[in-house]
Parts: sequence; structure tokens; C-alpha cells
Amino acid sequence: MWQAQVRIDLDAIRHNVATLKGMLRPGTALMSVVKADAYGHGMLRVAEAAVRGGATWLGTATLDEALALREHGAGGGVKILSWLHSPGRPLGEAVAADVDLSASSIDALDEIVDAARKVRRAAAVHLKIDTGLSRNGAGRGDWPALVTAAAKAQADGDVEIAAIWSHFACADEPGHPSILRQQLAFDEALDVAAGLGVEPPLRHFANSAAALTLPESHFELVRVGLSTYGLSPIPGGAPDLRPAMSVHARVALVKAVQAGEGVSYGHTYKILKDTNLALVPVGYADGVPRSASSRGLVHIGGKVRRVVGRVCMDQIVVDCGDDDVRAGDEAVLFGAGTRGEPTADDWAVAADTINYEIVTRMGSNRTPRVYL
Ligand code: PLP
Repeated sequence: MWQAQVRIDLDAIRHNVATLKGMLRPGTALMSVVKADAYGHGMLRVAEAAVRGGATWLGTATLDEALALREHGAGGGVKILSWLHSPGRPLGEAVAADVDLSASSIDALDEIVDAARKVRRAAAVHLKIDTGLSRNGAGRGDWPALVTAAAKAQADGDVEIAAIWSHFACADEPGHPSILRQQLAFDEALDVAAGLGVEPPLRHFANSAAALTLPESHFELVRVGLSTYGLSPIPGGAPDLRPAMSVHARVALVKAVQAGEGVSYGHTYKILKDTNLALVPVGYADGVPRSASSRGLVHIGGKVRRVVGRVCMDQIVVDCGDDDVRAGDEAVLFGAGTRGEPTADDWAVAADTINYEIVTRMGSNRTPRVYL
């Protein structure tokens, strides 16, 4: 008998990818972003389901993630892009494994060229321009030199410039003035590259929020993470998507407590009137955010109930009033919301964070993951 489970509905992943594909401009390909163990959903299984739904690209942050995809043949035949490498990380294995790499600086490009020479194969490179996120990507002043160096490396046969790309800062706030500024900066970067004779086959810019709200940012490829998993970065932004993750646990103990008693570490919560408390065996070691102490919501016995007191390492305490809740009953922390259970969005509000963090933490911890 299981005690706690993170359930992943792979058909929801397939459905979400197919639905998103249907929303893209004709001819735009879809990359499912499967970094961080597919936002806690399990990278290899998600990759297979995403490809079944129509993804032709998979995106990872680290090279190890990309190499694991290739090693396990997940999403066989698809293109893979990995975009975050520190200097000195050997890249030859990735080039040999046909993993596309991102370059944001001449130093990074040089490392890719060295790797390509070592394995005697041209490396597919995506040149990244920082259009305003101030994170990864070449600064606008450094962009012409990076493009020029890449064009030379291409002429030498060391790289193939596969794409020019960038990433939004505030696409999840429709109408934010930075969106248009970034779009103009991207257009300018494309023009500069074209002036230097570089016009790669792909341009990509859109994450989930932009894919859902800014069709003009779709270009030839979109990189969607959160929406692959059925969640939206914008409230109500993805009505046709199905959340793929749900978190379940069996009540370990129910007991009556009297008004005035303190609950859990620090006694931050005091019982107001006599009640029954249910002990649910998941805690912050399982990814339940401690910041949701006395705020998280749990569905038990047909009702949504509140976490009381601090979230502990292995358990939470839920106030069940005078309802007939028993040890062994199923508790659902969150799911699709279709059976009255809370959603990852509800937990994000309770924990003062974003739904990305809720699923990524809950799915990448001690609790066994089960695929439906
Ligand atoms: N592209 C890059 C570079 C990212 O870092 C991410 C995720 O943070 C994505 C795309 C996917 O973003 P989202 O999950 O909002 O779709």
C-alpha cells in the first residue's frame, strides 16, 4: 500500500503539446522544455510523451540533461538544445551526440569550436542575444563580434549556425513595456546578423507566456516548458491544457485536540475550537513548501481543508473539524482541480511563490513518482 505518490498523467502531456502545437502559427515547430527533470514530472517519460504530442525539439539547461536524453533514446530522432554551460565543461561528447549548443560569448563559441575540431564534426550553434532579460546572451555591444566570429567558424566548417535566439523577461505580464522593447531589440539583432551575412534557418524567442499571447513571437520555433505540463504562467491563460501532476498521500493518523492547544513546531497556530487533526505524511523533504505553513490546502474526504501550523520535514497537520476523517483516507494536495482538489496555482498562492516552483519541488524529491 502506498503512503505518498506524485502521479503524472502522460496523456495530459501528450494532449498539452498537441493543443499548443495547434495554437502556433503555421510552420512553427515546438520545443518542449524538459530541464529540471521536466519541471519535476520526470524527464525521460515526459520527453517520450511530448514527442508523441508533436514536439520536434527538446530543451534542457545542462549538458548532462541533454546527454541523458540522448543516452536513453528518449524522444528518438528529435533535436535537442542545451543552453547553460560554464567554461571548462567538456563539450565534445555533446557535439558527438548531436546536441545543439548555445553560445552567448566569443569565449563560449571558442570552446564549442575546440570541441567540434576534437570530434571532427561541425557543432550546431544557437547564438543568443540578450534583448533585455540581463541574464544569458550576448550584450548588444558584443553581438556584432560574436556573429562575426560565428560566421568565420562556420566558413571554417567548425560550426553550423542553427539559430539566433533570445528569452523574454516579462512575457507573463501581458502589456508590460519591456515586451515590445525586447521584440525591437531582437529585430535589430537579426538585422545586424543579416548585415554580416548570417541568416540562420531558425529564430526562437517565445516561452509559454509568449507562445500563448504573442503570435508574432513564434518565429520558426517556440520553447514551451510550463504549458507542456498543463499549467499557465498567466491566470486563466491556458484553458484547454490539462495539469499533468497530482500529489496524493494517505492520512497517517487522526486525533481529537482541544481548543487552546498549539500545533506543530513553534506553536505558531493555536486551535480555536475542539477539532480533529489529520496527519498527512509529506513535508518539506518531499517538496511541500514550508512557506505554506498554516496556508496550504489539502482535499480530504470530499472537502478542501487547511494546513495548520508549520510544515515539518516529513509531515503536515490538516484541520478536519468534526468531519469523519480516518487514518488511511486519501489526501490530495493538488491536481487538475476537476474533482474539487486544490491546484498547483492554489499552492503557489499559499506559499507565496509560482506554480513552476511548486511542481518542480514536489516532483523532484523523496515521494515516488507514478505514471498514469
Ligand atoms: N527558454 C528558456 C531559456 C528557459 O530558461 C525556459 C524556462 O525557464 C523556457 C524557455 C521555458 O519557459 P516556460 O516554462 O515559461 O515556458
